Amino acid sequence: MHFNTFGIDVFSKFFVRIANIDQLREVIENSAYQKEKKLVLGGGSNILFTRDFEGFVLKNDIMGFDVVSEDENNIVIKAGAGENWHEFVKKNVSAGYGGLENLSLIPGNVGASPMQNIGAYGVEVKDVVEAVECIDLKSGEIEIFNASMCEFGYRSSVFKTKLAGQKFIHSVSFRLNKKSKPNTSYGAIENELEKLGLPATIQNVSQAVINIRRSKLPDPTEIGNAGSFFKNPEISAEQAEKLKINYPDCPLYPVENGHFKAAAGWLIEKAGWKGKIIKNYGVHSKQALVLVNYGGSKGSDILDLAREIQQNILSRFGIHLEMEVNIL
Ligand code: NAP
Repeated sequence: MHFNTFGIDVFSKFFVRIANIDQLREVIENSAYQKEKKLVLGGGSNILFTRDFEGFVLKNDIMGFDVVSEDENNIVIKAGAGENWHEFVKKNVSAGYGGLENLSLIPGNVGASPMQNIGAYGVEVKDVVEAVECIDLKSGEIEIFNASMCEFGYRSSVFKTKLAGQKFIHSVSFRLNKKSKPNTSYGAIENELEKLGLPATIQNVSQAVINIRRSKLPDPTEIGNAGSFFKNPEISAEQAEKLKINYPDCPLYPVENGHFKAAAGWLIEKAGWKGKIIKNYGVHSKQALVLVNYGGSKGSDILDLAREIQQNILSRFGIHLEMEVNIL
């Protein structure tokens, strides 16, 4: 069974499945555990293993759903971190609870969603996270983080920065809206709804996102990948102006501080990498932001390719691309 969506064959020294808090506490009390490196693994959808893992892999298998509170406008739902993300989204979409529909079909589990503040089509999970319940990996104590304590940023949170490797996300509570209008700010959604001839309801927006993603992104059960490999770079107004002079068709989106977001996929495609195949790995043919393993590749080879792309984009456009995928 694959525990990483890139489909890289690696081993770990210890591998434990955690289905409840007591099991985790038992592991924490084990003297071998204290000395070893630890890795909490969810769906393995944002990780590239470049070597065997010399430590404890804690596979997060915490399941379950609970309604925490509900009124006529909102419902707060708590889900176990090990639940499959898209199954969770589907459940809420069919119940008519809004907020997650733009995040349909993202691979991975519920626990990874606040960790990296997953985002797509103008929505980030930070918009709906109410609280994250964690267990400290040293003490076994339960800690509750409200949204502001999570220090959410672009594809980032306190769990990926200051507290990296210290917390085991047990469950996440989401505040969903029973009356909200879906966010269709990204043109791709509007176009797809128009093509389908459907109005912008929660269910239809979810279907539109599923259709768009299926048409562009490789299914990790068929081709190994971890979604976008690089983050979209934020550049200064001066850099943006230079880029526009040399590449008038380069998409740029204004963000805070007068800066602009450039599309990493566009830069990589423009540099000629889209669809490139090297042995049994390469750059996806329909989306240049996604690196793929066609089977049997080594993580270190894929990392070398990523570095080569970074180097090339830097020398061609003067822009540094930061990796979004966690490299181990
Ligand atoms: P796209 O439509 O080809 O657009 C390229 C980039 O331009 C996107 O990454 C997006 O930034 C930005 N963009 C497009 N329209 C925008 C708007 N109206 N306002 C602000 N920014 C805009 O993108 P794509 O690669 O097919 O991805 C579509 C969406 O799914 C994006 O939101 C993307 O982040 C998300 N996605 C995420 C992953 C992942 O693994 N993290 C994988 C696939 C797709 P943003 O990325 O900031 O939205």
